[in-house]
Amino acid sequence: MYNLHCHSLLSDGELLPSELAVHYAAAGYKAIAITDHADYSNIALITKAILEFTRHWPKNRKIMVLPGIELTHLPPEQFEPLAKYARKEGIRVIIGHGETLVEPVIPGTNRAALEADIDILAHPGLISNADIKLAKKRGIFLEITSRHGHSDTNAHVVEHALELGAKLILNHDSHRPEDIISPQDLIDIGLRAGLSQKEIAKLYHQASIFIAKIEKNP
Ligand SMILES: [Zn+2]
Ligand SMILES: [Zn+2]
Repeated sequence: MYNLHCHSLLSDGELLPSELAVHYAAAGYKAIAITDHADYSNIALITKAILEFTRHWPKNRKIMVLPGIELTHLPPEQFEPLAKYARKEGIRVIIGHGETLVEPVIPGTNRAALEADIDILAHPGLISNADIKLAKKRGIFLEITSRHGHSDTNAHVVEHALELGAKLILNHDSHRPEDIISPQDLIDIGLRAGLSQKEIAKLYHQASIFIAKIEKNP
C-alpha cells in the first residue's frame, strides 16, 4: 500500500519526516513520498532537506520513503524550470498542485504542470479532456484524493480518465496525523469516486511499477 502525497514540517504539515514514516508504517503502508509545498522561495531548502532525510532512512525499515515535492501555486511558466531543478537535484516524485475548486489556483496551472516534468497532477479539479489526454500521452498520474474539498471532483476525474485511458493514483495529501487513514479507507474513497475493485487493483499495480523503478535505480 502506498501514498505518494504527504506534507511534513518542511511546509505546512504537522509531523517531521521521521514521524510521518513511522505513522504511515504503523497504518500499514509500505511506501510513501514526502512531497512538501515548494516555490522559488524554498525549493532549494526543502529539496536538500528531504534528500538528506531519505538518503539516511534505512533501507531495511518497514517502509520506503521517497523524496518528493509539490510545486504549489506557481505562476504557470515556473512549472517547467522548477520541475527541472527538482529532478536534477534527485527528487523522485514531483507533484503539480492542480486546479482544485477550493483554492484560487491560477487558471492554466493543470496544463503548465502537465507540460513540465512532473509525475502526478494532484487534485486537478474539473480537468478538461484535452488535459487528460496530455496526461495520458506523458504518462502522468491524475490524483484521486481523500482530502476534504479537493475530493469534490474525484468522480469527474475518475469518469473522464477511465474514458480516455489516463493513469490514476489514490493519495492522501495528509497534513496531520488524523489525515493518515488506513489503506482500506483510501480504497473506499476510490470506490466512492466510481472506481471498481478491478480498476483499483490496476491502479495499485501501476503505482507499484512506478515505485519499483525508483527502488531499482536509487
Ligand atoms: Zn498543504
Ligand atoms: Zn499537497
